Amino acid sequence: TAFFAMKVYINGEFVDQADAKVSVFDHGFLYGDGIFEGIRLYNGNIFKLDEHLERLEFSARAIMLTMPWSRAEIAEAVCESCRVNGLTNGYIRLIVSRGVGSLGLSPKSCERPQLIIIADQIQLYPKEFYTEGLKVITVATRRLGPAALPPMIKSLNYLNNILAKIEAGHLGYVEAFMLNDQGYVAECTGDNVFIVQHGKLFTPPVSSGSLTGITRQAVFEISQELGLQLVETNLTRYDLWISKECFLTGTAAEVVPVVEIDGREIGDGKPGEITHQVLNAFKARVSVDGTKI
Ligand code: PMP
Repeated sequence: TAFFAMKVYINGEFVDQADAKVSVFDHGFLYGDGIFEGIRLYNGNIFKLDEHLERLEFSARAIMLTMPWSRAEIAEAVCESCRVNGLTNGYIRLIVSRGVGSLGLSPKSCERPQLIIIADQIQLYPKEFYTEGLKVITVATRRLGPAALPPMIKSLNYLNNILAKIEAGHLGYVEAFMLNDQGYVAECTGDNVFIVQHGKLFTPPVSSGSLTGITRQAVFEISQELGLQLVETNLTRYDLWISKECFLTGTAAEVVPVVEIDGREIGDGKPGEITHQVLNAFKARVSVDGTKI
């Protein structure tokens, strides 16, 4: 981003992106000990800011990280980050790390958490993703289970997902389906999964091993608005293979059609009708919904 000299928020101050550095002794760096959010800014409105901040608080509670900032303070810092950078459309990365400590695993040595906000220009996915749809493959790397590292926590430890992403890349695909320990579909490496069958929407329950996606939640609302029935239920690879339509949801991806799964063409191999309806409704919603910066 050569033409965009970004200011990064670090613990209450804005610094030039070249000087935006944290200590190598931060446990976020040493151990992935921390949490984050990825948030979108549309036309000067932050989409579902309160929902993102609530999920951040849930993640913090789950990892026993006490945040010394109120939700309102964090919200203001997020808005300020957008204003300082003159952004009206963008992607906001909010990071809370455990903080600087000693080399031991224990977070007890970390004095205070660090709050970092990067408000960047949005790097959109290629248009073909939306017009032609994605080809996705199931990989061998299983999604971590709730008894190990609960996938509902949006933690800085993304190695599980990165391994799946690498595996997909080696197989010639950009995105992967990850299964849970029981063999049910959990999610993709950075997106939730929906299928369409007999005119209804289906998505795995969060308990199958996925993030409580904010875009997923928005699709729940959209399904109501469109009068589409939505069922949360365990899905197998077979359910995906025989689905009429399939799409992925995420803050960066928004709603992306899937047209091939494990070599099987989905529907007629083109993005489906209901997928289009959901995507259009999503686009209509994000342009008006949200918190004014
Ligand atoms: N699953 C994972 C593993 C993710 O990292 C994300 C966020 N990119 C999602 C699902 C989608 O969540 P959201 O809609 O809140 O961005």
